[in-house]
Amino acid sequence: AFDGHEHVWLGEDETRGLTAIVSIHNTALGPALGGTRVWPHATFDDALTDALRLSRGMTFKSAIAGMPFGGGKAVIKADPKTEKTPAMLEAYAEMLAALNGQYYTGEDVGLTLADANFLRERTPNVSGTTTGGSGNPSPVTALGTFLGVKAALKHALGSNSVKGLRIAVQGLGSVGWSLCERLHAEGASLIVADIDETRARQAKEAFAADVVESATIVTAEADLFAPCALGAVLSKDTIPHLGAKIVAGAANNQLARHEDAGHLMPRGVLYAPDYVINAGGLINVAAELDADGYDREAVMAHVRRIPETLTHIFERAHAEGRPTNDIAQAMAEERIGRACAA
Ligand code: NAD
Repeated sequence: AFDGHEHVWLGEDETRGLTAIVSIHNTALGPALGGTRVWPHATFDDALTDALRLSRGMTFKSAIAGMPFGGGKAVIKADPKTEKTPAMLEAYAEMLAALNGQYYTGEDVGLTLADANFLRERTPNVSGTTTGGSGNPSPVTALGTFLGVKAALKHALGSNSVKGLRIAVQGLGSVGWSLCERLHAEGASLIVADIDETRARQAKEAFAADVVESATIVTAEADLFAPCALGAVLSKDTIPHLGAKIVAGAANNQLARHEDAGHLMPRGVLYAPDYVINAGGLINVAAELDADGYDREAVMAHVRRIPETLTHIFERAHAEGRPTNDIAQAMAEERIGRACAA
């Protein structure tokens, strides 16, 4: 089951309510870096699958972004609203400390800036923190995603303006909300969904957004669909019913299976590979770990190159008649291969 992953650790502490999986996919380019997700997966196997897929995605994300890091990710199987207690986070901090620098982590779905700060007070290998870090990486992820949305529009429609376009956003958390702010400020008309009704209601007020059920946002008629919730939103079952011809959003692992991209091409859907468009957060937290210190301007300059990388992928995919995620993976593997050969 762990085929291709270097290490998978399980941390369990029944008394303090911790079940954590730390998955290290590949460290050819450097130490493993990736956030910690806190989510109430239905089964342990679901949590494990999530950790394995997310850490693999981090390997490719880091490689494409040219970062000296490998792919890792952690999943804590718990409801972030009711089960994420200080005692549980204490137990997780001890697990991170025991890994002794083999894994660097930070925020992801269900793990907030406050949680990252809490962990950082107890163990050093946590980025995206307030003290000793650059804060929550989500606004940087949202900026990269916004610029990626524009690159996708430019490639598909010939103009990168969002003004007057209908854009569907699934998930109104840290990244989705920040993306909506940018889209709204530039005149896009928004259609949104979140399983958290309060979030959806707030978006209706803040952005004059149309709110729909999460299950129907995939099929909502729009110029572009931006998945910003959890993974596997694009599958052989959902793709035939997509309401947009462009998919460009921040969620990790948007494709249920890598091969599902094969269903996108015949339908003329342009897909911005998730780990390319959402690399802003990684670029930001990785910069915190730079030996020369964190340089905000260098981070922003790097994030502003995301559209260039995407455009290259779109053009190469078009020229070669291959899915965009095949091209992205080939580019990442080339870089990892060169590092292994060196
Ligand atoms: P978050 O926890 O702040 O927000 C996630 C939101 O999605 C929540 O509001 C939640 O209620 C909602 N949600 C969950 N399931 C849903 C569903 N089925 N339909 C609609 N809404 C749903 O998380 P985030 O940090 O904004 O991350 C969002 C996505 O972007 C995740 O896939 C994450 O892995 C990815 N990502 C985040 C970053 C970052 O910097 N935060 C970086 C790269 C990738």
